[in-house]
Amino acid sequence: MNIILLGPPGAGKGTQARKLVDERGMIQLSTGDMLREARTSGTEMGLKVAGIMDRGELVTDEIVIGLIEEKLEGEKGGGFIFDGFPRTLAQADALGALLERHGENLDAVIEMRVEDEVLVARIVARSTCGMCGEVYNDETKPIPADGKCTNCGGTEFNRRADDNEDSLKTRLLAYYKQTSPLIGYYYAKGNLKPVNGLGEIDEVAGEIAAALGG
Ligand code: ADP
Ligand code: ZN
Repeated sequence: MNIILLGPPGAGKGTQARKLVDERGMIQLSTGDMLREARTSGTEMGLKVAGIMDRGELVTDEIVIGLIEEKLEGEKGGGFIFDGFPRTLAQADALGALLERHGENLDAVIEMRVEDEVLVARIVARSTCGMCGEVYNDETKPIPADGKCTNCGGTEFNRRADDNEDSLKTRLLAYYKQTSPLIGYYYAKGNLKPVNGLGEIDEVAGEIAAALGG
């Protein structure tokens, strides 16, 4: 089964993707994570996209489609979760063609619905474990008092450079201008499954499981 997690920044795509990986052995393909990796390892492409990402703008379709194409060649197994991709109509068309070429289907597009005020509050409170990527939130899921990640015991936590109010405004605008048209696109294709992203992590996971047919 191949699915897309679609939703604005802070909707909880990464958190739910991690659960699907743990529980169903699916493969998470997050273009945001791939781009951050390229930056950390200092590749030419990584340097090129750094400023764009920090401002909260979208990197070019060509770059992200290339990243996804590479991963699809390399991985096989429990089904793909596309997280943060596609983000434009051109990316959506490219993904359709890529999947077809690999003899794969797109089974569902989970649209995670969360109000804007909640998104902003979530993102400015967000940090992640430097070792395993577990996501924490100052309000709703604080880093444990002993300073150790509940998942891996790691003791270093990071805040993303683009998790600040200015970049966030740009990211939200990019979402509404460039990505939200995909809701209509996938609705028309009959793939869209809206899910309420406002509940507790496990409640949202339950809704996603129901949308995927258990
Ligand atoms: P968010 O939490 O805002 O959804 P991501 O971790 O998915 O963020 O992505 C971080 C940044 O990486 C984006 O703001 C954008 O600059 C870039 N990016 C990630 N995926 C894409 C994509 N599919 N197309 C264009 N840019 C992307
Ligand atoms: Zn950890």
